[in-house]
Amino acid sequence: TIGMLALDAQGNLSGACTTSGMAFKMHGRVGDSPIIGAGLYVDNEVGGATSTGVGEEVIRICGSHLVVELMRQGYPPEKACQEAVERIVKKNKQRASQLQVGFLALNKKGEYGAYCLQKGFSYAVCTSADKNVLLDSKFYFK
Ligand code: ASP
Repeated sequence: TIGMLALDAQGNLSGACTTSGMAFKMHGRVGDSPIIGAGLYVDNEVGGATSTGVGEEVIRICGSHLVVELMRQGYPPEKACQEAVERIVKKNKQRASQLQVGFLALNKKGEYGAYCLQKGFSYAVCTSADKNVLLDSKFYFK
């Protein structure tokens, strides 16, 4: 999935995501990307979030909605993403180490962060100060 979150000069948030789906998926499978609240969620009062990885696990925790609601409660973006990842770990004790899920979040103040299960999730940031910076997400399995 490619997820994008934006904050414009007027302070309005927006988001979008695409998906390739999963390899060997069942015919008719619906992943997290087309489900608002799972693969993408934006609340213009709070922030936005998007996800990549095993969509079924993101759907089970309403992942992007969860991240935005945590930011509403005061979590910084990275911490909100970490909490969502840890919830997936809790629900998948046996096989969490074989999954990949990552979240990216941006809040109304323009603060952003990401967190994923396994190393290897990077994201790009473009601000008026930083034109195109590639960052590595923190990850759960060290
Ligand atoms: N999240 C997508 C899905 O489960 C997979 C991807 O990351 O592209 O369909």
